Amino acid sequence: MSSEPLHIGIVGAGPSGCYVADALGRKLPGARIDVFDRLPTPFGLVRGGVAPDHQGTKNIARQFERTLGKAGVRFLGNIAVGRDISYEELKAACDVLVIAIGAFEDRRLGIPGEDLDAVYGSGQVVAWYNGIPAGRDLEPRLDGKSLAIIGNGNVALDIARLLAKTPDELASSDLCAHARAAFEASRIEDVWLIGRRGPLEASFTTAELAEFGDLSRVATLVDPAQLPYAIPEGLGEEQGKLAEKNLEVLRAYAARGDQRERPLRLHFMFNAAPLAIKGEDRAHELVLQRTRIEQGRAVAGGETFSIPADTVISAIGYRSSPFPGLPFDTQRGVVANAEGRVEPGVYTAGWCKRGPQGVIPANRADSLAVAELILADLAAHEGSSKPGSALIDSMLAARGAEPVDFAGWQKINAAEVAAGQGRPREKLARLEDLLRIARR
Ligand code: NAP
Repeated sequence: MSSEPLHIGIVGAGPSGCYVADALGRKLPGARIDVFDRLPTPFGLVRGGVAPDHQGTKNIARQFERTLGKAGVRFLGNIAVGRDISYEELKAACDVLVIAIGAFEDRRLGIPGEDLDAVYGSGQVVAWYNGIPAGRDLEPRLDGKSLAIIGNGNVALDIARLLAKTPDELASSDLCAHARAAFEASRIEDVWLIGRRGPLEASFTTAELAEFGDLSRVATLVDPAQLPYAIPEGLGEEQGKLAEKNLEVLRAYAARGDQRERPLRLHFMFNAAPLAIKGEDRAHELVLQRTRIEQGRAVAGGETFSIPADTVISAIGYRSSPFPGLPFDTQRGVVANAEGRVEPGVYTAGWCKRGPQGVIPANRADSLAVAELILADLAAHEGSSKPGSALIDSMLAARGAEPVDFAGWQKINAAEVAAGQGRPREKLARLEDLLRIARR
């Protein structure tokens, strides 16, 4: 029996990783918890995914700050598993390893023209406007008149809303300066929101859908013929309720009076499956096919038609990106796991476990369940049998890796907030700037 403290490694400092760290820290007060992130900044999608104009959702970061600042917990930012330390090395060092790396890679549409210029995945665009260093140089082309967003989820709404807002309407956001400038300079007059299924099946949440009603410069255009009169039976209670509330908003949009004075038209287009993106050197046109719904699925087979699309953004969901050695389900794009167990001593939580679904509170519930699982498995063991931080630190030092610790993050945070000048913050979006401030 060993009296050494347990060593827990958590890969990913996003909501799921932070919730697991918090839960295990409370139940195992003597444990050493190392939370790794490839970015120098913590909080995953709270910083890099949640829309910059939804500051209320970002308040959860304060709780995660407290978790990462606790005694026994270390934040090791700027450490990429697979580059600075391997999965096998982490397993050798930790009694418990939790993989909570989220899902950031865009799913592919799989249609001709997807690789043309001015076609982007939502993950790329969100990383760009939210100041994730790897996305900083995307500078999506917003120089045409028409932009199509494929997908009827909240990410599609986020992108459309940020484009639609005036500078005043964005004043209290932390949208990065480079994205504010690009949106202001954009010449887009028509935004198409394309759903392959109907309004009943859209995964928008109602509050997000309704936000367009308050925006001054956008006309919300809905063809009333696309809206069913009633909710059919058999939709299921939860989906039925959501569909009813969404229909109410869409009906109100369809019934709006003259909106011709508004410079940006937002077209809600349902039952249209993308077939191809056409253009010579860049996207120019999106070819769609009418669908009908059979047993909840979109079945294409109707008329084919095109809309102008100088820019196309697919917002159709994400996959996780594994590091070498990690058991991975390539078909689903998630870490291979059974209820959170990956292999002895290794667990997974959040979007990389379940797929990219659910808001942050849903990930809290998932993380707590995984923490319970870990505690149940640990009940059979006593004390640590692994070398922990000593091995991790020596391996990182040998490779010249320089982690950004919690104090380093606090310096970044202070610098960004100070640069905000009335906004919540002005993010540092270049890796070299983040590291320079963290090491000051
Ligand atoms: P999502 O809600 O799963 O929506 C994806 C959309 O893409 C669906 O409409 C889906 O249609 C469509 N789609 C998938 N494959 C397609 C294809 N090949 N062709 C055409 N359309 C396709 O995903 P998301 O918008 O990326 O959001 C991810 C999660 O984050 C969700 O749980 C979301 O609620 C959450 N989120 C929340 C907020 C918020 O609370 N404000 C903001 C952003 C994200 P089908 O339904 O037909 O598959």
